[in-house]
Amino acid sequence: MPLSDSPTPLPRPLLDDSTLLIGGAWSAPEGSGRREIVNPFDASVIATVAEASAADADRAVRAARSAFEEGSWSRAPRTHRAEVLTGLADSLQEHREEFARLETLDTGKTLAESRFDVDDTTAVLRYYAALSTTDAGRTVDTGRPGAQSRVVHEPVGVCALITPWNYPLLQISWKLAPALAAGNTVVAKPSELTPLTTIRLFELLHEQLEKAGAPGGTANLVLGGGAVGAALAGHPEVDLVSFTGGGVSGRAVMRAAADTVKKVALELGGKNPNIVFGDADLDTAVDFALTAAFLHSGQVCSAGSRLLLHRGLHAEFTAELARRAELIRLGDGFAKGTESGPLISAEHREKVERHVAGALAEGAVLRAGGTRPTEPELQAGFFLRPTVLDGCRADMAVVREEVFGPVLTIELFDDEDEAVALANDTPYGLAGAVWTRDTARGERVAARLRLGTVWINDYHPYVPQAEWGGFKQSGTGRELGPSGLREYQETKHVWRTLDPVPQRWFAG
Ligand code: NAD
Repeated sequence: MPLSDSPTPLPRPLLDDSTLLIGGAWSAPEGSGRREIVNPFDASVIATVAEASAADADRAVRAARSAFEEGSWSRAPRTHRAEVLTGLADSLQEHREEFARLETLDTGKTLAESRFDVDDTTAVLRYYAALSTTDAGRTVDTGRPGAQSRVVHEPVGVCALITPWNYPLLQISWKLAPALAAGNTVVAKPSELTPLTTIRLFELLHEQLEKAGAPGGTANLVLGGGAVGAALAGHPEVDLVSFTGGGVSGRAVMRAAADTVKKVALELGGKNPNIVFGDADLDTAVDFALTAAFLHSGQVCSAGSRLLLHRGLHAEFTAELARRAELIRLGDGFAKGTESGPLISAEHREKVERHVAGALAEGAVLRAGGTRPTEPELQAGFFLRPTVLDGCRADMAVVREEVFGPVLTIELFDDEDEAVALANDTPYGLAGAVWTRDTARGERVAARLRLGTVWINDYHPYVPQAEWGGFKQSGTGRELGPSGLREYQETKHVWRTLDPVPQRWFAG
């Protein structure tokens, strides 16, 4: 199967190793680090990327610091910064197809999904452009005629933005848009596995910032792996770290940030329950259970990877679910008819396969998938068939740990209390859903779930206007919505005494 009809152009900075945007100029790293970027569909090398050293990360942070202190961006009228974001949104839409193709090349997801991601990214940029211009402070009635008090919101300073590989474009936009709208300067570091669309986005952003006369170091980009992220998280000149990724790295970020008491926002993993009561519409609930678990091969932080079924539904629901899981068409993200792509890497697929083997050893019953596909055209890529594991228990590793692949576990419950207890029996608290025709029950269960997002009779939708984030070990802080802007702001109280006279607190 051909990868694509026409070649997808790579971002220009890759062509001469100028992969770092520091202080307003694309430049080559000081270090000699190189990494091959691999297309997960066929394991071919798309590009070789020059990566930053800790010294490069330090240069980027210092550039961001001096741009912040210079003030023409950080203290600019909000409308000025909003225009840059709006200009970036327009420019992104002009290059919509190019971005979608790059994202599919880099992640293996279908072109339809990548187009959604480009449009969602555009919407996030536009949302924060609009929100920031209407973000009023407030005046406080002090109750004293001679004193005035007001509360204002100011940028935090230099923000490090660290993102994962599953939604590269979308994840950077959730951070970049509010950070810039609030007047911060930034250093971004995308995942080392999928940097292409972030590089291209920063090319467009760089153009917009230059046009607006913003200082060179307003938005910086460094490439590299965890060591570069760690250099940013520990850097004394970074005021805030916003991190999306796994729990192990997230905890390391939190520890590194502690030394200089940085603000930390963490969006980590999930082990998300999808609860189906006996009165749910079976056809719809099965359909959404598939989307919840297998969209983007389950490589979604909010994937509905734990199906909690009312015992009465078990036989019929599981049979239909397994039948339809087997029909999911794996393939080239560029090809028409492909419904799901590969996993991101060979190592990641092996990790997912170990989870499946472990679950079977612990007594799970395989109802669908569990193996690699046999089609010749899928042999080079990192594919795994959508996998349904029945007979699971809350104490199994596959139920407790984030698998981050196309693996759905099934547990059974008898009543509402048991459903809620099973759903909450996890260190995670990101998202989940409840399916029922009983409105009161839907609301009751939603109120008891310890999750940052609850869908009632739906799975996966989100809008930029509503907060996203996790309870418990799924993270701290919120992205999107008004809280997503507040993450990037300091709150300052300004008190003014109109006619000061000595207070004589101390008599002498
Ligand atoms: P990861 O933790 O391996 O990497 C994420 C990013 O952190 C990458 O850019 C990586 O280079 C960097 N990094 C790694 N170690 C670091 C360190 N010590 N200090 C600073 N940076 C470091 O995660 P991943 O495998 O890229 O992404 C998958 C994970 O992301 C899953 O656990 C998933 O649930 C989570 N995720 C969460 C959300 C959410 O909104 N909560 C969204 C998407 C993905």
